[in-house]
Amino acid sequence: MSEENFEYDLIVLGAGSGGVRASRIASSYGAKVAVIEEDRPGGTCVLRGCIPKKLMVYGSEFKKQVNDAKEYGWKVKNLEHDWDVLNASIEKELDRLASIYINILKNSGCRVITGKAHFISPSEIKVNNEILTGKKILIATGGLPYLPDIDGLKENAITSNEALKLPSLPKSIAIFGSGYIAIEFAFIFNGFGTDVDLIYRSDLPLRGFDYEIRKNLENELKNKGINLFPKSKINRVFKEDKIIIDLENNNNIRTDQLLVATGRKPNTSQLKLEDIGVELNSEGAVIVDDSSKSNINYIYAIGDVTNRINLTPVALGEGHAFADREFGGLNKYFNYEDVPCAVFSQPPVSVVGLSEEDAIDKGYEIKIFTSNFKPLKHTISGNNERSFMKLVVERKSNTVLGAHMIGSDAPEIMQSIAIAIKAKLTKQDFDLTIGIHPTAAEEFVTMRSSRD
Ligand code: NDP
Repeated sequence: MSEENFEYDLIVLGAGSGGVRASRIASSYGAKVAVIEEDRPGGTCVLRGCIPKKLMVYGSEFKKQVNDAKEYGWKVKNLEHDWDVLNASIEKELDRLASIYINILKNSGCRVITGKAHFISPSEIKVNNEILTGKKILIATGGLPYLPDIDGLKENAITSNEALKLPSLPKSIAIFGSGYIAIEFAFIFNGFGTDVDLIYRSDLPLRGFDYEIRKNLENELKNKGINLFPKSKINRVFKEDKIIIDLENNNNIRTDQLLVATGRKPNTSQLKLEDIGVELNSEGAVIVDDSSKSNINYIYAIGDVTNRINLTPVALGEGHAFADREFGGLNKYFNYEDVPCAVFSQPPVSVVGLSEEDAIDKGYEIKIFTSNFKPLKHTISGNNERSFMKLVVERKSNTVLGAHMIGSDAPEIMQSIAIAIKAKLTKQDFDLTIGIHPTAAEEFVTMRSSRD
């Protein structure tokens, strides 16, 4: 097809965070852009992930906060929760955000098409009986929950999609998995008063995180009364008056709801990518190079559909860099080093850079600085939540390789620490920084003796 025959300079499949950012920036450089989305614009983060989840985290924390207030002299009678009000408030906010996304796209001159799209050739997309031609096509279709193949699991389980809009609060819930989603929902439901069982195959939750963070998180889960079933395998699931989860070690769990949070898989199965020869890995992720280009010229992919680092800011960065390079003539590439992250447990976890174990695996000689304390607020409240902070420092250069925290406000604190890690600052730079007193954050600049 000759260049002038293309209807669009760019067709974007998926109006999530990455797709919308790429569309808007490409359009700002003068590209003619069409964006196809089967749902409302917003994607996983806005509609089925980060935003409703964090609102639920806030909602679930109030009961604990009211309890904390008692020793500060507050008397609260008849604390009651109305699940319908919470659902309605969240839905209202999601409507607002989805319409902002539509406006961003429309105001930047993109055509927004609602429908299910698939490739019919490397430059042709079919949607709602229309065929669009694009000079470049960007796949930004995100991911979907993955459920292991276990007898009765799919029939009796919900995923995070449904957990975010349950018609009523369950009395009990079992959660399968111990990654980001499982941990966040365990604390959310616990906070609202649901009896929570957490079933996972490893010995500790949050595989891949620093060992001490995982141990401290395990303590916080236990402190909150969440029932832990580590090193557990599910044989089968069936329904009687309740959902019965039959574990391999002969334990049976009876529960009202079963939430499966055993990872997500790239959303590529409906796109007919195999028909046009786009290479996928064994999980169905589009294989891309450093410029997010697939093995087929002019077909690109960003975000969770590529299964690189599945976080919203990464998808935004990949989408922005793609548009800057391909339509703005800039030499921009997303840098995957030292991407900070957070798990919104209660208290939250946040980390940037290398864990102690990863630093050792990479051959660094390291010093470890830690601080473990009861937050000032809880010296009075009686709440037994603690804070734990850790710096991983290279012995020779004194460079801080990693920072880790579980405790109140960890993600808010870690965002600024991430600048220091990205700038490759040393422990001495941290030591020269004056603390803000009294805060938890000041511990990051006052840890004086290493653990050896
Ligand atoms: P994760 O990859 O974080 O965790 C998956 C969990 O499922 C792990 O506990 C894993 O066990 C377990 N698991 C996987 N396969 C099986 C199996 N066959 N049988 C039993 N257990 C299994 O996935 P999530 O679903 O929690 O989240 C998906 C992604 O979404 C995250 O990786 C993250 O990138 C993103 N996300 C980010 C959030 C944030 O930034 N706050 C919040 C939510 C999601 P094991 O550890 O033993 O492998």
